[in-house]
Amino acid sequence: MDDKAGMNEAQDQVRLSLVEAAIRLEDAGLNRGSTGNIGTRFGDEILVTPSGVAVRDLTPESMVLLGWDGGKIDEDQPEQPTSEWRFHRDILATRAEFGAVVHCHAPHTTALACLGRDLPAFHYMVAVAGGIDIRCTPYALFGSQELSDLVLEALEGRKACLMANHGMIACDTTLERAIALAIEVEALAGIYLAALQVGTPNILSADEMAEVLAKFRDSGYGRQAR
Ligand SMILES: [Zn+2]
Repeated sequence: MDDKAGMNEAQDQVRLSLVEAAIRLEDAGLNRGSTGNIGTRFGDEILVTPSGVAVRDLTPESMVLLGWDGGKIDEDQPEQPTSEWRFHRDILATRAEFGAVVHCHAPHTTALACLGRDLPAFHYMVAVAGGIDIRCTPYALFGSQELSDLVLEALEGRKACLMANHGMIACDTTLERAIALAIEVEALAGIYLAALQVGTPNILSADEMAEVLAKFRDSGYGRQAR
């Protein structure tokens, strides 16, 4: 097999993994219709889900390969990249440790984001995103560079964030890990909202969370190394 054929085969695999990831997100109740989007690194380029295509209609061929300027590598491809290609590009461009970005409008994280609230250290597992909380960005228009800039800020030292009046982003070394993180963050948001119905959740102190983060690091839990 020559290099090009090998490259194409590898790209087909990555394209297929994006389709499967989108289906998994929908099956897990984290996404519906054509709202969420996924991006991965592929060689020197990025591969993202297309704009406005329902999950059940996604095909490996419909995934869009982009250069770092956001331009389509195959200009003849009919599909357009997700309208959120900017934050996929900017996250992958600035965070070398990440290989994949998952964005969805999961109900509980989105409800919290509509309140403009961070997910605080109400449960030790909040540390799974890398820090003592999971931040929520201020509101900015979907698809805008302003939103992408706010996302990069909220993701500083973190692998996940919320976007006000919009949804959630989870990133990790692999697509598999990014999806697992998105599922965990959504579950945490659900528990937090449930606790808020009854009272005021106890928030773990900075020292308590530092201990959790150290233990996660020691055990390799949620590690970012590639
Ligand atoms: Zn969105």
